[in-house]
Amino acid sequence: MAERGRRQFIKSIGMLGAAAAAPAGMARALAVPASGPGGARLAELEHLPRHPALGGAPVDDPYADVDWDAALHVASTTHVHVQTGPSTVPYGGDDQRRLDIIYNQMQLRHLPISNYRPSAPLYPIGSIRTNNFARQEFGVFRNGRYEEGPIDWNQVVMDPKSGWYRDLAPEAQRQLPMKLGPKLFEHVPDDLIVSPNAEHWDFTDAPQLHACAPGSLWSSGAPDHMKLGIQLQEHGYRAGTSLPWREAFRRMLGQMLFPDGGGVTINHPVWSGLTDDQIFQFLDFDPRVLGIEVFNHPSFPDPSLGWAVPTWDRILASGRRCLGFFVPDHGVNGRCMLLVPRFTEEECLRAYRKGAFYGSPAGSKLTISFKSIRLSGRKLSIVATGVPKDEWLIAYVTTDREKRWINGSPDKPFEFEIPLTDKGVPAISYVRVEVIRNLTMEHIFSQPIRFPRT
Ligand SMILES: [Zn+2]
Repeated sequence: MAERGRRQFIKSIGMLGAAAAAPAGMARALAVPASGPGGARLAELEHLPRHPALGGAPVDDPYADVDWDAALHVASTTHVHVQTGPSTVPYGGDDQRRLDIIYNQMQLRHLPISNYRPSAPLYPIGSIRTNNFARQEFGVFRNGRYEEGPIDWNQVVMDPKSGWYRDLAPEAQRQLPMKLGPKLFEHVPDDLIVSPNAEHWDFTDAPQLHACAPGSLWSSGAPDHMKLGIQLQEHGYRAGTSLPWREAFRRMLGQMLFPDGGGVTINHPVWSGLTDDQIFQFLDFDPRVLGIEVFNHPSFPDPSLGWAVPTWDRILASGRRCLGFFVPDHGVNGRCMLLVPRFTEEECLRAYRKGAFYGSPAGSKLTISFKSIRLSGRKLSIVATGVPKDEWLIAYVTTDREKRWINGSPDKPFEFEIPLTDKGVPAISYVRVEVIRNLTMEHIFSQPIRFPRT
């Protein structure tokens, strides 16, 4: 980018929300190396504990702090939309029905709702009203230039000089001016924790990328012009971020609700057609870029595009930290079971940051669960539970060398010994575990335990 163009660009994004950094800081962010082992990978080696039984090698065990005997298993997800149906107003219509399905059928209890158009958290959920984003506090790109918030869409469209109200179809005209209505959700159960989140998209240098930011208050984009029929996009307003992904990630990470909770997720990588090298760049950018969706439910038109297990294993074999998320998105299958000492918003988001959870493509309450995943010396012991006496569980261990079935029973832990090199350090860079209930095919996935190479 030419210097003048760069300065103009920096000026145009310079005041985006509370996380806006000084122009010098922004220029540095744009200069992050395009690929290779970034700061995120090198920095982690300094703080990881080293295990004597593994030749003093560093170990990244996301379950190291979990008190398995006392931990609560909270059903959550990082990517779920609560915007459905044929409603013609933003966030109107049958959103309550969708929330009820998520609560009653899926039985999720921690919900970082990830709406888009605009990509703005519904937070706190009790404050959100019908037509909430008829006026938005955050700014938006129009024809390549950033316009500061607040933006009142009624004023924009109905302005006597610059508006285009008279050109709209009669049914679109009848919606205007959009009025702030009653609370969007009449009933939010007492035992449901809703966290800030949004699905951000429309990155100028990674157009296929969709990313969620559970725990972040950052907002981007504009209301859905297609549903509204008020032609915002036809008049130059972008419905998504319209930022380079690094700048957008900086802004997501700059507005985290808790400093040690949440992060950024790379959504449906196979469906999006992301290359491994792109994903490496995202993960290397910052350790708070947590991982990828290993399962995403809808993935039209081919459901197999929602799965990314081979992608996950390739990333892990490259030595990178990459958590695996299991999400319903617009569908109803997929969950992350958070292992928390207390059922609070902070602890739930902290579990995501640490990787203290396991995943499943299940659409309703799981009968099986991990009772413990413990690394002691060279031995990884896994206890899973939840099957009746006449059924059994099957466990698979995957490393960068092999995928192996391990024999076990509900009474006996599955055990796996970490293979060592002749220097006595781990010969694998990660191990992760899957357990399947034989008759129902319920399936749970651990997060990887990693042995980063020094
Ligand atoms: Zn989505």
